Amino acid sequence: MIIDCHGHYTTVPVAHTEWRAAQLSAWESGSAAPAYPSMGDDEIRASIEDNQLRLARERGSDLTIFSPRASAMGHHLGDIRTSTAWAQACNDLIARVVDLFPASFAGACQLPQSPGQPLDAAIDELNRCAAMGFVGCNLNPDPSGGSWTAPPLTDPYWYPLYQRLCELDLPAMVHVSASSNPAFHATGGYYLAADTAVFMQLLQGDLFTDFPTLRLVIPHGGGAVPFHWGRYRGLADMLDKPPLAEHLMRNVFFDTCVYHQPGIDLMFEVLDPANILFGSEMVGAVRGIDPTTGHYFDDTKRYVEAAAITPEVREQVYAANAIQVYPRLRQLLVP
Ligand SMILES: [Zn+2]
Repeated sequence: MIIDCHGHYTTVPVAHTEWRAAQLSAWESGSAAPAYPSMGDDEIRASIEDNQLRLARERGSDLTIFSPRASAMGHHLGDIRTSTAWAQACNDLIARVVDLFPASFAGACQLPQSPGQPLDAAIDELNRCAAMGFVGCNLNPDPSGGSWTAPPLTDPYWYPLYQRLCELDLPAMVHVSASSNPAFHATGGYYLAADTAVFMQLLQGDLFTDFPTLRLVIPHGGGAVPFHWGRYRGLADMLDKPPLAEHLMRNVFFDTCVYHQPGIDLMFEVLDPANILFGSEMVGAVRGIDPTTGHYFDDTKRYVEAAAITPEVREQVYAANAIQVYPRLRQLLVP
């Protein structure tokens, strides 16, 4: 069993994306959004079978935790009402994919967020999606799209959402959306900077003292964190925090979306494998073929296969860790 903890519906039917553009342009002009278009199951089925499902089968992963396209969440656009309607539309589409392919996908939801707004809408949508069987959510630590106007993830602002996540026993993947700041390239600059910045926010605070069962997945290999592991261990020491293993690493997990062998080898060298979840972010940020290997950059299973780890550790990273972090998967995996 191989569980890919990080997949996005990047191949949605065009009518869905067109509706979002129409919704935002209606918001700008102060008019009502058009009705959401109807889409047939065949269209949704084809958009998955020809893309994510085909690649998963070719590469050998079994189940993908599937969420709406992260770069299209666009929490910095519109307002909390447009964000709410958009999140509902995106999550409903994920639910349809899961219904069509229940053995291959489990849902993770987009949360309606908007800069400076309370998290009530996000909690409502989390509840709605949990009731639909979703196993996790994506939490945007910077809904401003690159201005970092939200408080750090350790701030009480976020606590009502954490409270509900703990009650529902759901994890959150910490995932920014598109960049509205030209100094940040979205997937090459902003995503990785956010992953790294959030880890440091968590290091500075004591969030998991207040929420000992909260689980956060920092994607893209944890940004720059594993490469600078000594820096973070040293900062924990300087800031009079417990060692990272106690302070953060019972609650924080990284995926394998680093797209080359030395990056994966480094992760296994510096991290406890209990903190590594298999992920590919496919079809996503980096879609090309690595000329030095002849394989897709995001075919991350190849790197895990080639890493110098025991079969037991490989199994742990492929499935057992994901089931620990996303316990609602257990219900889906019962034969
Ligand atoms: Zn992603």
